[in-house]
Amino acid sequence: MGFCAVARDLARASACELSALRRTLVDGMLSPLATGIYEGLGATAGLGLAVGGCAYAAMWPASRIFGPVLRAPRRPGELALTFDDGPNPAWTPRLLDILASHDVRATFFMVGKYAQAEPELVRRVAAAGHLIGNHSWSHPNLALTAPRRVREELSRTKETLEQITGKPVRHFRPPFGARRPDVLRTARRMAMEPVLWNAMTSDWSEPSVDAIVKRLTEMIDRNERRGWATNFVLHDGNHLDPTAFREPSVSAAGQLVARYKETHRFVTLDAWSI
Ligand SMILES: [Zn+2]
Repeated sequence: MGFCAVARDLARASACELSALRRTLVDGMLSPLATGIYEGLGATAGLGLAVGGCAYAAMWPASRIFGPVLRAPRRPGELALTFDDGPNPAWTPRLLDILASHDVRATFFMVGKYAQAEPELVRRVAAAGHLIGNHSWSHPNLALTAPRRVREELSRTKETLEQITGKPVRHFRPPFGARRPDVLRTARRMAMEPVLWNAMTSDWSEPSVDAIVKRLTEMIDRNERRGWATNFVLHDGNHLDPTAFREPSVSAAGQLVARYKETHRFVTLDAWSI
């Protein structure tokens, strides 16, 4: 189903777009970020990924072949700290305390079913001035999901978050970064801007705090040299296991905020809307 849609849209792509796609694929295959995305997917989706470039483009965050998405603007000096896969009753409150101690706001892309289970925590995130975005209801790979279920995943999450906080949800990050054109159209039709990232490391696999900080610092500095702001991802939950250990991600967030808050401006993603 997903691959059919991808193939159909690729058939409509211009030669120029296809050439750009090929470059993206070659660059992407060499990137540790690509490896991280692949690992984050699990074996089944990974097999799909290996099927061909179409599927690969659907996963790669820098690919714009499926339309514009928000990654980061040309505003060096600005950082958007984003957290995926919460809210999580063990880790999100600790993160909130750290962010409050530095007077920094972040963006939380929440999984709908977790938000429904933790409404007080969702309210606490919103009350602290953080931005809340939609990360689907159950975290499927939406590039492989039937359009009707895509709509349900997005709308149920949006409605749940809006009911809990009383605030509109205007941002959507596809699980795994997986997308196809109709997924993005569905999000836009629901008045949500699709968002990816331009810095991520495999913090979900529980490397050391130092390894996470080092890798993200390199990416932030690289983006800065190229004239870009950085939209970076950490995880305050786990889409498969809500009891997952997230201490490295939480501590890394604290260290990165401490390191950059004097020289950079931390923003929530609504500051960059396109
Ligand atoms: Zn996720």
